[in-house]
Amino acid sequence: MSGDGLKMMIRERAQAFGFTLCHVTRPEIDQQHIDALQRWSDAGLQGDMQWMAEPVRLERRKNPATMLDGVKSVISLAMIYSPPQYTLAEANSSLSSGVITAYAHGDDYHDVMKKKLKALAAELDLMLGKYDQRVFVDTAPVLEHALAEGAGLGWQGKHTLTIHKQHGSWFLLGEIFTTAEIEPDQRAENHCGSCSACIDICPTQAIIAPYVVDARRCISYLTIEFDGFIPTELRPLMGNRIYGCDDCQLACPWNGHAAKGDGITIDYLMPKGENNLADLASLLLLDEEGFRIRFRKSPIKRTKRRGLLRNVCIAMGNSGAAAFVPGLLNVLNDQESLIRGHAAWALARLCDQERREMVLSALVLQLAQESDPAVMQEMTSAIKDIKEAL
Ligand code: SF4
Ligand code: SF4
Repeated sequence: MSGDGLKMMIRERAQAFGFTLCHVTRPEIDQQHIDALQRWSDAGLQGDMQWMAEPVRLERRKNPATMLDGVKSVISLAMIYSPPQYTLAEANSSLSSGVITAYAHGDDYHDVMKKKLKALAAELDLMLGKYDQRVFVDTAPVLEHALAEGAGLGWQGKHTLTIHKQHGSWFLLGEIFTTAEIEPDQRAENHCGSCSACIDICPTQAIIAPYVVDARRCISYLTIEFDGFIPTELRPLMGNRIYGCDDCQLACPWNGHAAKGDGITIDYLMPKGENNLADLASLLLLDEEGFRIRFRKSPIKRTKRRGLLRNVCIAMGNSGAAAFVPGLLNVLNDQESLIRGHAAWALARLCDQERREMVLSALVLQLAQESDPAVMQEMTSAIKDIKEAL
């Protein structure tokens, strides 16, 4: 069978498993991406994700051939998901709701994609003969956007995500590494041009230069990966984003025509309405069991309850809605220090004249019982801010 005929068959089977885009490249990263990765790591822009800077993992990212002995080809695959069902303006004005990144509106993509990649790999065994294969979805040290660009699946935009001319960037990437030799596709060309919409819109100015995201400022990192007290100067900039952030994608002109989910036949991630502008008040009421049940199949379980409710407290603090005060007072003695600390911050932001005494006495009482130094600092600052403001 010709190289093209074989690839056509692989593509057809990939589409049957839900991968709209399927391209092939060699297990190599071009020098430009290698240099950019090294500069990013040297500058410490990975934040607390120290594993990303570990020399072994860095080397693996730069050299995909180290991920599988004898690997000859990398099949780069994209699974499209439903874009947000709201505009940026609607998300920003929906103050009683929390914005969750669109890929997390439904089931956990790791589970969904891994199963489908393994099934596709099993079919490749039948198609190609017996070769070694490994499948990856996001968790291994694989430079997936650089591989996708090399495979011609799409180009890496200035916000560092992969863009396809027709489908925009509302998709997730996975890879099959194989020892089979498959004809590679042509590298994708970059079509960002002079556009800077993503850089301009970013609420925290996390895109510090074209193609360079400072993870320490990026809301996706802060709300999902970071497990600590979010720097106070960044909290007001996060608005109501409680799990990830789609702002740079929503602003990207290439997503204009993809906004209604063009080209998507089935969204295998099964988005759920309750995560589409989620109700902040009910999220803050979740206990450990409630969180576990609601997010059992969702990628949101990654933040654990303490991370999500920390983010909810920040969104409430940014809402200007004093109606959230009673709920925040209720979690001021939560078992999780992250929640107690961020609730104190939010209370200081929402406290008006009418609630001043009630909030102050709750904070003072709680501070007297507090033993965590970070929370004590949050509560002390909150008390000071309230006293100075009113
Ligand atoms: S995800 Fe949000 S915070 Fe991160 S770079 Fe994009 S717009 Fe900025
Ligand atoms: S918004 Fe503009 S600069 Fe940013 S990724 Fe899209 S096309 Fe490129």
